Amino acid sequence: MNTNSIRVDGARLWQSLMDLARIGATPKGGVRRLALTELDRQGRDLVVGWLRDAGTTVEVDGAGNIFAVRQGRNVGVPVVLTGSHVDTQPSGGKFDGNYGVLAGLEVLRTLNDVGVATEKPVGVAIWTNEEGTRFIPTMGGSGAFAHVFTLDYLRAQRDIDGISFGEALHSIGYAGNTPVGERAVDAYFEAHIEQGPILEREDKIIGVVTGALGQRWYDCVWTGQDAHAGPTPMEERHDALRGAARMVEAVNTLALRHAPDGRATVGFMQVMPNSRNVIPGLVRMSVDMRHPDDDALVRMDRELAGATAGIARELRLECELRQVVEFAASHFDADCVASVQRAAQMLGYTSRRIVSGAAHDAVYLSRVAPTSMIFVPCKDGISHNETEDAQPEHLEAGANVLLHAVLARAGVSSSLG
Ligand SMILES: [Zn+2]
Repeated sequence: MNTNSIRVDGARLWQSLMDLARIGATPKGGVRRLALTELDRQGRDLVVGWLRDAGTTVEVDGAGNIFAVRQGRNVGVPVVLTGSHVDTQPSGGKFDGNYGVLAGLEVLRTLNDVGVATEKPVGVAIWTNEEGTRFIPTMGGSGAFAHVFTLDYLRAQRDIDGISFGEALHSIGYAGNTPVGERAVDAYFEAHIEQGPILEREDKIIGVVTGALGQRWYDCVWTGQDAHAGPTPMEERHDALRGAARMVEAVNTLALRHAPDGRATVGFMQVMPNSRNVIPGLVRMSVDMRHPDDDALVRMDRELAGATAGIARELRLECELRQVVEFAASHFDADCVASVQRAAQMLGYTSRRIVSGAAHDAVYLSRVAPTSMIFVPCKDGISHNETEDAQPEHLEAGANVLLHAVLARAGVSSSLG
């Protein structure tokens, strides 16, 4: 049977996105549905209901990851999996994560509509706590699935109120009993909004994602000496905030030296004692550095250490720089990338290859299964924001690419009776 003419129902996909976005809707049109809260439970329940209605068997693992599987003709073989997450940032949007899950649902609904049976089973996954807002680490569910950390470690993490991940998971009824990470995955495809400006700027509909930037995150503490802002002469100060200020500039200059793919950001700073007439004696800050090439990231790391030491010497400060996160750059599976590319071509959508600047569940999945992603444009490249927006026809296009990438991988067996 030739399945090339099958298309998803874009209006139905859009309606599902809007229905899910009502749970935790914010006044400015965004969504606040933090992981493992009552709202997360409501969102999960809604989507799980839809997935059951689509004829899938739903299982939940010990990390709260949800797997909804539509059987294929071959029983007991690894599943061709798609999905993403339904938790959001505190002031998040309607599309980040939710799109990948509902595009997967739309693929299953479409297969049902046209009566296509696949050789391999096809499934949709909802990964727990991708955002890492309420609980660290980010991408907790997919990370546990990929054996990056243990379930015990994950369950012990606590939110700002002291509630553990395990307690929260239990309280929303999603502490499942299937073992974490033992499900065999034939391939993983994740559709996602780009969360950057490139597709929109170049007027391309589909991003064929070849991998993700490597990342290194640091905690940095500048120590000087608190002193009175009046009597202390300028030349005798040990002003920790001056060190931090120089470092903000140094970090940005450093990324520009590694243009166009280098990224470096200071996004967090705490000034002590934070009093207007006291010279700051202590500043804590974060540094986030990213690059698609691990060797370049190593060079950036060295340059960061060098810049920090130089500033500390010049300003007579102590600086402690500690790496707290390291993700190697991800290179997605060539066959899966080619499937996405071929699907975009067959469907007549403009496309370009792209490297993801953000981490996604797919980054961890790529460590245990052949993986690729499909990006669609989002308005002005803005995400993690209530104004996050995407065009229905782009979301539909991405779901069509997902459908055909999945079909190519899962194999069409026959049209159902
Ligand atoms: Zn996401």
